[in-house]
Amino acid sequence: SKTIAGEKGTATERSFVMIKPDGVSRQLVGKIISRFEERGYKLVAIKSLTPSPALAKEHYSDLSARPFYGGLVKYITSGTPVVAMVWEGKDVIKQGRRIVGATNPLDAHPGSIRGQYSVSVGRNLIHASDAFDSATKEIGLWFAPEELSEYEVGQISKPVMRT
Ligand code: GDP
Ligand code: MG
Repeated sequence: SKTIAGEKGTATERSFVMIKPDGVSRQLVGKIISRFEERGYKLVAIKSLTPSPALAKEHYSDLSARPFYGGLVKYITSGTPVVAMVWEGKDVIKQGRRIVGATNPLDAHPGSIRGQYSVSVGRNLIHASDAFDSATKEIGLWFAPEELSEYEVGQISKPVMRT
């Protein structure tokens, strides 16, 4: 059924993807966005912000018992912004995880973002939703419904030439 994450298994499926502060600090935003654009996914929302501790804690609430939780929240809320995005398209949740690569960059395929650009699990550049239910939770947490755009890609495709 349809949620804010679209309909699972269809071209309306959506994933929440976030470039973490190390990705912004290392000026990898453009390269990371290009991976999703070039694969054919549609950008339906994007913003740059420093999340509040409450937002960061809720985003990572499943990990609250883990020893690195405090440090993770501190890193995400450091003051260097994150880039929060929603990407839409066929199988975007699973394919987004493949584009991002394994949690520990030392296990990530070299063709993935983490495998190409990082070596540390605590500074692994990027987040992507791991399942349809988490995509629904995360998109709702980070974005208001009116921040999500509905449009068709490729509709304004030709440059207008003026003499
Ligand atoms: P992800 O979905 O691949 O991002 O991985 P998880 O949901 O398991 O963990 C969320 C984030 O917590 C990861 O992306 C890492 O930034 C961080 N993290 C996970 N495991 C560890 C760890 O063992 N040590 C540290 N320092 N950070 C970790
Ligand atoms: Mg996760």
